[in-house]
Formats: sequence, structure tokens, C-alpha cells
Amino acid sequence: MNQLLQVSSLSRAYRSGEVETRALDSVSFEVAAGEFVALMGPSGCGKSTLLNILGFLDAPDEGSYRLRGEEVATLSEARLTRLRRAHAGFVFQSFNLIDELNVAENVEVALLYRGADARRRRVEAVLDQVGLAHRARHRPRQLSGGQQQRVAIARALAPEPDLLLADEPTGNLDSANGAAVMDLLKSAAAGGTTVIMVTHSALHAAAADRTIRMLDGRIVGETRL
Ligand code: ADP
Repeated sequence: MNQLLQVSSLSRAYRSGEVETRALDSVSFEVAAGEFVALMGPSGCGKSTLLNILGFLDAPDEGSYRLRGEEVATLSEARLTRLRRAHAGFVFQSFNLIDELNVAENVEVALLYRGADARRRRVEAVLDQVGLAHRARHRPRQLSGGQQQRVAIARALAPEPDLLLADEPTGNLDSANGAAVMDLLKSAAAGGTTVIMVTHSALHAAAADRTIRMLDGRIVGETRL
């Protein structure tokens, strides 16, 4: 398999005053390009910390993170920002769309480094992909929760990232809308985008190629489906 990323002995602690919390404690795994991985575990076990490091929002204290064989754990803030723009897309439980912008403009925000024509074409293509081309001029609050999450997925996929990181993307959705979001994530993975999704839903985890279970900052189990 074509390996996209490899983390080994990744650790991250938060310190406030005298108190230290080991959010990640020597975590190691590999993910192939186009793989769909579900990350599960109780609240506080380190899932968001891991997702932030994988998406270049945060750096580990110790350990290695290789992206296509290149070490990124020790890069500067500026290099991490460039990697994030080029390689990572994020989807959150709360959608995080900008209410003052319409749907097309929300997606366009992810493409500010492209020329105007290329931007417009890509926005149209990716809204079509999530089935919302007809809602391009609507504001986010005029859409259902499920539609808003599909816009957020379009925004994340617009720059054609290698890695899509989703933090409980179906957490605020009913089962029909959750299933539609899962279908989009699955088709993104089938198209070659690596998807790493935090979820509390066993049903949605079962749609992934692999489930990684965490507890107290460590990996305690893996299931390949
Ligand atoms: P999860 O996403 O699984 O709920 P997190 O990665 O958010 O877990 O948190 C892991 C641990 O690190 C928790 O004990 C949490 O309280 C702690 N933590 C997370 N972020 C911070 C922070 N910014 N400052 C201090 N502690 C933090």
C-alpha cells in the first residue's frame, strides 16, 4: 500500500502551573493514501490532540510524524502553516461556516491562493460533488444542518487535500443526514483522499476501513474491516 503518513512514539503534554496532562503518550501507527480511519475513545483520551497534530495545527513534544517519508514533527510554525494549506482539510461537528458569506463564498475561502477563474470552476465542481450547486447563493443559516455540513465538506475538499480530518462530523446530525455525510467521506476516500474521522458512533466507525481505539492518550486497539 502507498503509505501517506507514519507517526511513531508521538507524545504531547499540556502544562498549566504544576499540573501536567499527558494528552498523547507514545502513539504509533501508519495510514495509507486513500484509507478511511475512524478514531474512537472516551472524551479526554486525546483524539482532538492527535487530529490537530496530524493536520499541522499543533506539534508533538516528542516523536516522529512523517508525511510521505518527510519528517514534519520538528518544522517551524511557518512551514506547518504551508503544509496545512497544501495538504489538510478540516471538518468539525459544528460546521464552522461563516454566516456573512453565501455557500459559494464559504467554499471559495479555502481557495484564495488560486486565480479568480480557477476558483470559480473549483467551487462549482465541489458544490456539485456534494449535491448543493443549487444552493450556492444561500446563506448557511438558510440550510439544514446536514446541508451545512456538506458545504463544510466541500470547503475542506476544495483545495484537493491529501488528508481530510473530521472531528465528529455527524455529531449534530440526525441519522439520514449523518448517512449522507458518511457517503461523502467514503467517496472522498475512494477518490484517494485519506480520511481520519473522530466518531462516537459505532455505526459510522463501521463504514471506515479501520478503527483505532484510544484510552488515556494511548492506542488500545485496532480493527480492520
Ligand atoms: P478528546 O478529543 O479525546 O476529548 P483531547 O485531545 O481534547 O481529548 O484532550 C486530551 C487531554 O488533554 C484531556 O485530558 C484534556 O483535558 C487535555 N487538554 C486538551 N487540550 C488542552 C489544553 N489546551 N490545555 C490543557 N489541557 C488540555
